[in-house]
Amino acid sequence: MRKPTMKQISAVLRQMTPGQLKAVATEVAALETRWGATAVIEGRFAAGVSCPHCQCERVHRHGQANGLQRYRCRECRRTFNALSGTSLSGLHKREKWLGQAEALRDGRPLRAVAKDLGIHVGTAHRWRHRFLAGPQAAMPESLAGIAEVDETMFLLSFKGQGTLPRKARKRGGKAAKRGLSHEQVSVLVARDRAGVTADCVLKATDATTLAAALKPIVPTDVVLCTDGSGALAAAARQLGIEHHAVNLSAGIRVDGAWHIQNVNAYHSRLKTWVRKFNGVATRYLENYLGWFRTLDRKSPDVLKPPQWLALAMGSHA
Ligand SMILES: [Zn+2]
Repeated sequence: MRKPTMKQISAVLRQMTPGQLKAVATEVAALETRWGATAVIEGRFAAGVSCPHCQCERVHRHGQANGLQRYRCRECRRTFNALSGTSLSGLHKREKWLGQAEALRDGRPLRAVAKDLGIHVGTAHRWRHRFLAGPQAAMPESLAGIAEVDETMFLLSFKGQGTLPRKARKRGGKAAKRGLSHEQVSVLVARDRAGVTADCVLKATDATTLAAALKPIVPTDVVLCTDGSGALAAAARQLGIEHHAVNLSAGIRVDGAWHIQNVNAYHSRLKTWVRKFNGVATRYLENYLGWFRTLDRKSPDVLKPPQWLALAMGSHA
């Protein structure tokens, strides 16, 4: 079939009823956001294409598939596109991805997202966590100067592993349904004075575990500042990092430059924010930590839906 000319398209549009025109406008809007998402996706290879299977850069173009440029690797002979190997690979309805990215930027609740995007709430849940794999993995390179470090506890639902979120239950109430149990999960947050933040879900809170958690996020030339817990002090010693403890038990909260008010304020913002999701399952906690870390680091003006989509694909904003 030959492509119709613009003149022919206009002629067809002029014959349409208002209802048909509205349907066409909806279709055009969907195609536009699909193109917008496609541009972000193809942007992954803007600086050069490499094979996601073997990292080889000897690749050539190999037609189009699903509206994306397809490539073929000369080394391993496999084909791929810009979505291959990302957490978004295999998801459908690309015209809604920028909407999903916007929902992440705005921290919108699941049911509202499902309604806005016209998708099932189970899909919204799956998309949320697929999209959060990128932000979750995007830990800052490293902290500098003074790093305030503190632990905080989260009460999470241990078994909430189904695909659907629970309805909110009354605040402070016990789990309403049988089979739901809760657990306290400890999260370690390190934040430097420039606001660079790293976090980690702790399996245990002994010095060795803390040292292992701190090692990848805190270079040895930073100075740790903590509330003086014995385990954190011992962890700093194990890592050979200078450490200042604020003696909170003696009522001292600020001692010159030494305080942990930034990290405590971060904990407080994080907990307030997590609360609106009405029951976060333990297995998803790291995704929520990465989500909040990203929201807290960059203002919504800086991180727009296309940047969130790029982050979801694993690029670092
Ligand atoms: Zn290859």
